[in-house]
Amino acid sequence: VRALHLVTRSQQKHLAPHASSASVRARMQATRTQDTSAELALRAALRERGIRYRVNYKLSGTRSRADIAFVRGRVAVFVDGCFWHGCPDHGTWPKTNEAWWRAKILENRARDISIGKRLGDSGWTVLRFWEHVDPREAAQAIMDEIERR
Ligand SMILES: [Zn+2]
Repeated sequence: VRALHLVTRSQQKHLAPHASSASVRARMQATRTQDTSAELALRAALRERGIRYRVNYKLSGTRSRADIAFVRGRVAVFVDGCFWHGCPDHGTWPKTNEAWWRAKILENRARDISIGKRLGDSGWTVLRFWEHVDPREAAQAIMDEIERR
């Protein structure tokens, strides 16, 4: 997984399937990565508890954004799509353009780990939830963490 960080931009281009690949385009369009229904459900569950949060919060020192952030308590929440992050229960590994998808998903997972380390080093607590997790359970885990902070 670590080696994926060394893949250069030109090599990535080489790995990418042709833009004409209908299956790739269809899946990319069908699989949103921002404001997914899982994120919206979790946000609703947090609102019900009357807690205020930031959405798509830019994390300084990284190129990423937390799906949900509690800035004062420094808690960053990510809702990981079962497909994009390779959920052990629901992740699917497409057969068409298999190598490209595999690299893409492994790259996402490697990035998740490195972002978590970097945020941890700067005093953030990172909570990641699979999109299949019950939003009320996720909201409760977040509340518990914030109370601990
Ligand atoms: Zn899942």
